[in-house]
Amino acid sequence: MTIWSCLCAGDILLRREGADGAFSLPIGDEPPVALQPWNIVTTIKNESIVNSQFSIFNLKIVRLDKPVVGVEGLEMMGLRKSHAVLSPEEYQLASKAAELIYWDQNTKYCGVCGAPTKWMTDISKKCPECGKEWWPSPSTAIIVRVTRGETILLVRARNFRSNHYGLVAGFLETGESLEQCVERELREEVGISVKNLKYFGSQPWPFPFGLMVGFTADYADGEIHLQKEELTEGGWFTRDNLPPIPDKASIARRLIDDWLMRDERLKMRD
Ligand SMILES: [Zn+2]
Repeated sequence: MTIWSCLCAGDILLRREGADGAFSLPIGDEPPVALQPWNIVTTIKNESIVNSQFSIFNLKIVRLDKPVVGVEGLEMMGLRKSHAVLSPEEYQLASKAAELIYWDQNTKYCGVCGAPTKWMTDISKKCPECGKEWWPSPSTAIIVRVTRGETILLVRARNFRSNHYGLVAGFLETGESLEQCVERELREEVGISVKNLKYFGSQPWPFPFGLMVGFTADYADGEIHLQKEELTEGGWFTRDNLPPIPDKASIARRLIDDWLMRDERLKMRD
């Protein structure tokens, strides 16, 4: 079986499954649309669960020159939006494809000697001149859910396009542990300290090439003091007065939903 992840400028090509709003990644030996001779097809052998079935399949990844329009049954969709219509497994394959395309475009030349790089395996490259091997290394960022009694800390970042609030997050710096990164980001962005820091889970974040590492923590000390370059608003919110929160594609939403459900579970126990 061959599954196709064809992307163009951050949009993924999907096959429409009937009229009920269901979509899937195109499947078939042939590409879903005619490719140009210069389109490079990367093939990755995969073993994983797709749509509840264990499968061994080829994932074929293509960067299209232009979006596909006017083809019956096919539609281009923003990768993030596709999270809502694809199965989790297919969304992960689409994300992997987007990350590899981004990485490929950013590693055309060896960072050591400047020679053009060559693919070494399905997912790595090698410089033919100096022998340096290049493997994809997504940027690591932390994200943390801080609660204080019945309230949660939510902030609005300057770079958010919509009006939603999220959790404190930031990129890992060199020479720093994930725990130190959480403490630094909270200190810098909101001026508070936390206790009971616990790992929650992680998530690939293909916008464009990251790994989000989620934590939970309890408030310990400090008054909220927003870093104005990064955040426009922020504060403690109860579950009854939540502002707009991120969509379900994000680990931020998983962290917030987990808190909402925990509160619900406690209420049911009372
Ligand atoms: Zn080199």
